[in-house]
Amino acid sequence: MKKQFVYLFSEGNAQMREILGGKGANLAEMTRLNLPVPQGFVVSTEACNDYYDKDGVISDVIKDEVIKNMRSLEKITKKNFNSNDNPLLVSVRSGSRASMPGMMDTVLNLGLNDEVALVMAKNNERLAYDSYRRLIQMFADVVHGVDKKHFDQVMDTIVDKYEVETDHDLSVIALKEVVERYKETFKREVKEAFPQDPEKQLMQAIESVFKSWNNDRAIYYRRMHKIPDTWGTAVSVQEMVFGNMGEGCATGVAFSRNPATGTKELYGEFLFDAQGEDVVAGTHTPLQISQLKETMPKQYAEFQEISNFLEKHYHDMQDMEFTIENYKLFILQTRAGKRTAQAAVKIANDLVREGIITKKEAIESLDLDIIDGLLHPQFKLEALQSIEPIASGLPASPGAASGLIVLSAKKAVEYSDKGRPTILVRMETSPEDIEGMNLSLGILTARGGMTSHAAVVARGMGKACIVGSSDLRVFEDHVMIKDKKYFEGDQISIDGGTGFVYEGQIETQSVAIAEDFDNILTWSDEIADLKVYTNADSSHEIQTALDFGAQGVGLVRTEHMFFEADRIRAVREMILSTNEMQREVALSKILPIQRDDFEKIFRTVKELPVTIRYLDPPLHEFMPTTTQDIEELATVMSMSVHEIRDTIRSLHEFNPMMGHRGCRLAITYPEIALMQTRAIIEAAINVTKEMKDNVLKPEIMIPLVGDVAEFNFLAKKVKTLADQLIRESGVSINYTVGTMIELPRACILADEIALEADFFSFGTNDLTQMTYGFSRDDAGGFLKSYYKLGIYGDDPFSTLDTSGVGELIKIAIDRARKVKPNIKIGICGEHGGDPRSIAFFKSVGMNYVSCSPFRVPIARISLARD
Ligand code: ADP
Ligand code: MG
Ligand code: MG
Repeated sequence: MKKQFVYLFSEGNAQMREILGGKGANLAEMTRLNLPVPQGFVVSTEACNDYYDKDGVISDVIKDEVIKNMRSLEKITKKNFNSNDNPLLVSVRSGSRASMPGMMDTVLNLGLNDEVALVMAKNNERLAYDSYRRLIQMFADVVHGVDKKHFDQVMDTIVDKYEVETDHDLSVIALKEVVERYKETFKREVKEAFPQDPEKQLMQAIESVFKSWNNDRAIYYRRMHKIPDTWGTAVSVQEMVFGNMGEGCATGVAFSRNPATGTKELYGEFLFDAQGEDVVAGTHTPLQISQLKETMPKQYAEFQEISNFLEKHYHDMQDMEFTIENYKLFILQTRAGKRTAQAAVKIANDLVREGIITKKEAIESLDLDIIDGLLHPQFKLEALQSIEPIASGLPASPGAASGLIVLSAKKAVEYSDKGRPTILVRMETSPEDIEGMNLSLGILTARGGMTSHAAVVARGMGKACIVGSSDLRVFEDHVMIKDKKYFEGDQISIDGGTGFVYEGQIETQSVAIAEDFDNILTWSDEIADLKVYTNADSSHEIQTALDFGAQGVGLVRTEHMFFEADRIRAVREMILSTNEMQREVALSKILPIQRDDFEKIFRTVKELPVTIRYLDPPLHEFMPTTTQDIEELATVMSMSVHEIRDTIRSLHEFNPMMGHRGCRLAITYPEIALMQTRAIIEAAINVTKEMKDNVLKPEIMIPLVGDVAEFNFLAKKVKTLADQLIRESGVSINYTVGTMIELPRACILADEIALEADFFSFGTNDLTQMTYGFSRDDAGGFLKSYYKLGIYGDDPFSTLDTSGVGELIKIAIDRARKVKPNIKIGICGEHGGDPRSIAFFKSVGMNYVSCSPFRVPIARISLARD
């Protein structure tokens, strides 16, 4: 059968988002539901991919199908495209499988030309020329990449000349002049006349939407949201309805619930006598949707009804576009609405309470990248009490951020490369700013409403954002906040939850989990089979994780305890020791400090399991680098600077990642492992004596084992000492000795190791490094070009490579469970907090995932998802 590339709205439905794109599929679904949707057709994502397969040519087959569908649309609308008799105008809209708001392009009023404008003018002159000027400008922008400013300049002179406030107030005569001047501008910038042939307009616009799939901002957005490049975009071609026809006309966007707070109310903005772009572009200050209720109560009520209906139908909060043409309401788009973390959690709970969705659906509905924002800091209340805001604006996206002012996205990138936190301050943002927005901690704009580009994108990123602050005037190299001048690099703080801007830096604090969020987590735990542990090195961090619901500690990195100022000297003494005696003296200085740390940890975790990893990094990492520190150490050790430098040089390795580290250290210097064993077991004994009912569960983890003989060598020593200490103390301690699986060889030989080890914990950072043969620290540079070239899609260090590294994990689990079916297996790499990696760990039958404290809630929810 011949492949179909183009579908009428009436041929599609919501399930077809892969080929119709989200926008197209929902327009089709709403058509099916008999909602008032202007009709049209969708050129599929498959047509887009075909276009790219043919190196940028729309095939004749597809062109023919487009024309054929246009003929059908003419029949449906009883209007004629490319004709002077009852002309049909259309919009050409982009839409991929995942919604990418503002990333790609739209052309409105397509089909207009000089003659068609004359015909339309017979009915409504103003409409004809207002629509025509919009078409010329959008077409120039979308199809030829002409900067909007060329047209804005023309508009500004004409607005001045006719002494009106904005383009909305222009007379017909003035609008005609705009059209003429726009055509000249078009010709000057594009070097050809504005195309008068509607069919040509149509094909060029479709091609441009295809092309916009690969514009820089779309590529960046996809990378950020992990959307595959191969999906392609669909193109919807839809009959125009006119919100700019004069009285009884309006256009706007609205959410079925408040996207900032989650309150159940129609929430949005609109303009009378305008076209959609005016509202979203942030160029005109829109009205609150509640004002529509006063002026057009009937249409408002109808919209409210449709909004409720769509929520029930889609089981989610909706973000809708509407246009009222001559008192008739049309719905132009619906999709799941972007929302703040607070709103997301409240809405999920409310929808469950209202019986619209199940608990499972509530869990699935959350955008985890945004929920993450909920777990991030707010300004300390005490800090706020003593200072006054210097400006205020609309609280577009909550969260607190302090940083240095940057006035361009480029500057944000520059600062961020130097590791300096920034607040991006702009007149308004545009899609070109997206990278700068992502790299900044917060965004502050002078213009725009709650649905402006800055607001929508910031909410999507879960970033602090304030928009439309009229206290601000933004210039090229400085910003005026009220009467005070600020420059790039000056420190400010913004609170996206209240809309207040402050001078200087303000201390932040984390927020407590609210009841609604706790419900979600509890429901998640009911569904999840795996447990969530945490990676934490101090009792303080562990407590944070426990508060977030961690059920154990999957990784305590003991070297972090070595680095602190009061102990690093003893560690260095140990490294510089030339014989075992000296080394033991140095270790005996470290012992009480480590034991103390472990006691604190045991008191915090109580009966929960806690996995303690033995010293792992190469020793040179502990050595001083500055001359001053080296001299100091020389004095303490009564050695010459020369000798110390020699030792440091001798510790140097060409590939430290693959050098003398992990269990290899302890095999060379068993005293280190024995000291750590003593510290752990003695701490456990002391704490057990203190807290009678608790049976502590320390899990001793030997890192970087590649051969069972390595494990056996150390495990035997560890157990001998531990058992002796326990026997002498007379209390019982349930300790185990296991290993970290982080070498490909360990995966392959997992059965041999499992016979000896009590547990496995996958160290997926090293396992990824060792499997790929490049290190995370060195790969940054060339991986960037790999992504650009499409050689790799994802960063294997943030999302587990399931096909390579994942296969090794499967092999290891398989072989281990064959010899020891109940062996406890978990993962403690960074991947333990990544939802997509978690889905994989779940599928291979691990017992737990372990992640950093702040990721614990995200991991709990991820484990409950499909
Ligand atoms: P985006 O993805 O950037 O929102 P859209 O394709 O939704 O782009 O269109 C941009 C604006 O144009 C929206 O406000 C929309 O309502 C308006 N618009 C699109 N198609 C039509 C149409 N057929 N009639 C009237 N307005 C339209
Ligand atoms: Mg668009
Ligand atoms: Mg839209």
